[in-house]
Amino acid sequence: MNVLIINAGSSSLKYQLMDPETGAVSAKGLCERIYIDGRLTHNANGKKIVKDIPMPTHSEAIQAVLSALVDPDNGVISSMKEIDAVGHRVVHGGESFASSVLITDQVMQAVEDCTPLAPLHNPANIIGIEACRAVLGHDVPQAAVFDTAFHQTMPEHAYLYSIPYEYYENDKIRRYGFHGTSHRYVSLRAAEILGRDPAELKVVSCHLGNGSSLAAIDGGRCVDTSMGFTPLVGLPMGTRAGDMDVGVVEFIANKYDMTISEAVNLLNKESGMLGLSGVSSDFRDLEQAAEKDHHRATVALEIFEYRVRKMIAEYAAAMGGVDVVVFTAGVGENAPETRAHILQGLGFMGITCDPEKNNCRGKEQIISQDGAPVTVMVVPTNEELMIAQDTMELVLDQE
Ligand code: ADP
Repeated sequence: MNVLIINAGSSSLKYQLMDPETGAVSAKGLCERIYIDGRLTHNANGKKIVKDIPMPTHSEAIQAVLSALVDPDNGVISSMKEIDAVGHRVVHGGESFASSVLITDQVMQAVEDCTPLAPLHNPANIIGIEACRAVLGHDVPQAAVFDTAFHQTMPEHAYLYSIPYEYYENDKIRRYGFHGTSHRYVSLRAAEILGRDPAELKVVSCHLGNGSSLAAIDGGRCVDTSMGFTPLVGLPMGTRAGDMDVGVVEFIANKYDMTISEAVNLLNKESGMLGLSGVSSDFRDLEQAAEKDHHRATVALEIFEYRVRKMIAEYAAAMGGVDVVVFTAGVGENAPETRAHILQGLGFMGITCDPEKNNCRGKEQIISQDGAPVTVMVVPTNEELMIAQDTMELVLDQE
């Protein structure tokens, strides 16, 4: 089976053509500068092609992707008929979706109803779906895989905010969490690697990238996660502040004559590792600066590591124990030193780090000491595989 995976942003669109049974990717790429001019970067058959193609809307971008896939010289399929289904990453499914679904008019309406919860992301996802429908027709099944769905199993005491209850009832203000597809993939894959049933395991999943979040997964079900109503909260991130006193927003807005939106923008785009270090939001740059004794870069890394460490213990407490800690995403997969610092001092709860095993990047690896009570491991994330597999299962169930 060939599943086309689409991740549509406001001015860009990432895609992969994948066989969900083997995980083999025959082509992948990116459309950029949609609505501006348009550029396609297409990787297939060991070649990378970059082409300027007018993309006044997402429809032309999808059309460009399909043309590249069936191109007689560099294509990977002979006709569009070989695309069996399309899986879309959709950011926000609100309380309407606790799992992936096949797209119908009703689903489209529900995704649209969630737009106030993700005003930048959901409209782009909807446009991506509509563009695929327009170009491929309604006969090719399409599925929506939501970033929020995996977290819908959180209990009330984890997702409600301690503000007047009416704001939950009337406006659905609550913790939703994001990165759900990644947390689900790495927790399932960790169980598979260990030869264990996910239903038996208490897992703390650490998705540490430019955006970072932790999830507590008890018996395969998410019971808590660190991002909230928006992705701004939880851990400090590349440019996001993470958890902090919201009174600061009012203080900054008053003192510097900013609107609330401007002050929140500061917390989203100019804070976190970038704001603390003054160097960069990129962990590689921070590590380099810290090696040269740059104080603010060193402190930024320490703050990040301290907050992740505290949250691992917090989530173990939330579950009454922990069997597995998983690291994933750009930093979690590729930064052994940051992992080692995070794990320091957690020996009291059976969490260890073997320096030799931890000296790995971008591959599946157990990094805890042999025989330690808690297994700590690195599992590179693969959200696309999860999207392709969900899509295939939904299509097969329907047949
Ligand atoms: P996004 O949230 O954009 O998907 P990623 O998961 O790709 O982010 O993670 C990006 C982050 O991973 C960047 O801060 C980058 O510095 C970090 N990263 C990637 N490779 C390394 C590495 N070898 N060492 C340290 N950090 C790394």
